[in-house]
Amino acid sequence: MADITGRDLIAMFDAIAAMIETQKGHLSELDGVIGDADHGVTMGIGFSAVTEALSQLDASSAEPTAVFNAAAKSFLNAVGASSGPLYATAFMRAGAAAKGKASLDRDAMVDVVAALSRGIQERGKATRGEKTMVDAWLPGAEAAEAARAAGEPLGACLAAAAAAAKEGADSTKAMLASKGRASRLGERALGHMDPGAASAAMILQVIAEEFKD
Ligand code: ADP
Ligand code: MG
Repeated sequence: MADITGRDLIAMFDAIAAMIETQKGHLSELDGVIGDADHGVTMGIGFSAVTEALSQLDASSAEPTAVFNAAAKSFLNAVGASSGPLYATAFMRAGAAAKGKASLDRDAMVDVVAALSRGIQERGKATRGEKTMVDAWLPGAEAAEAARAAGEPLGACLAAAAAAAKEGADSTKAMLASKGRASRLGERALGHMDPGAASAAMILQVIAEEFKD
């Protein structure tokens, strides 16, 4: 596929927001089991604020870094829950990774995915195995980087990321939580998927579908 422009990234965020809207109930249900039942609502509020902010940009001239920075700011302002600063930092890091580029080729887009994952890790200080969205983002980013190192085209890198993130989200069922609200539950969290990991896998799936080869 051709290099990814600011306009393509705005379309990507619109597609993520539309997906979250349809998955809102499901995500809040997952959060109802091990958290406070608002994850779908918070993600819905966040991504609708993002699409609103991005609709104010001039899509034909907006650079990738400006799209990510506007997404960061609007998500942070809209979301009070823990996912607010986590995704805002992720988008800021993605904006930094894209800085100075008029469009993103395969290498730059894989760098963006890695930056999203790193931003969440830095902000939340969670490591793999703590039953958070890191358990989807980190394997997703690593799979994208491995596919790139193997010479795969962008679509295949992103498909690998989505598949690894899905597997990572599924694996949170068997984990105890040591970060976030679910950490208060101890063994009662076992058997239940982390909502943040579930939404992360869905987001990477939308990104992969947006930028198929
Ligand atoms: P809140 O927990 O404030 O209600 P949300 O329901 O929107 O916020 O998000 C909950 C999700 O946030 C969890 O399922 C988990 O994936 C993620 N999370 C919570 N704390 C952390 C952290 N320190 N690092 C990474 N992810 C975290
Ligand atoms: Mg919650």
